[in-house]
Amino acid sequence: MKNPEAFGEIEVKSIQPYQAVKKYICPGCNRDIPAGLGHVVIVPIEAPDLRRHWHRGCWNKRI
Ligand SMILES: [Zn+2]
Repeated sequence: MKNPEAFGEIEVKSIQPYQAVKKYICPGCNRDIPAGLGHVVIVPIEAPDLRRHWHRGCWNKRI
């Protein structure tokens, strides 16, 4: 999901380091987001099942 805006309205949730208990793959750079690293979750309002975890920096600089 490179362009979450395609799903319409999205919600951006901040995940604090203590909340990051699993490893994720960031769709922005295809690299790991290790457990314990603060990041953001992008949640399409209409399709919350399609939420994705992104590095904060990757989300902020995506085109
Ligand atoms: Zn990334």
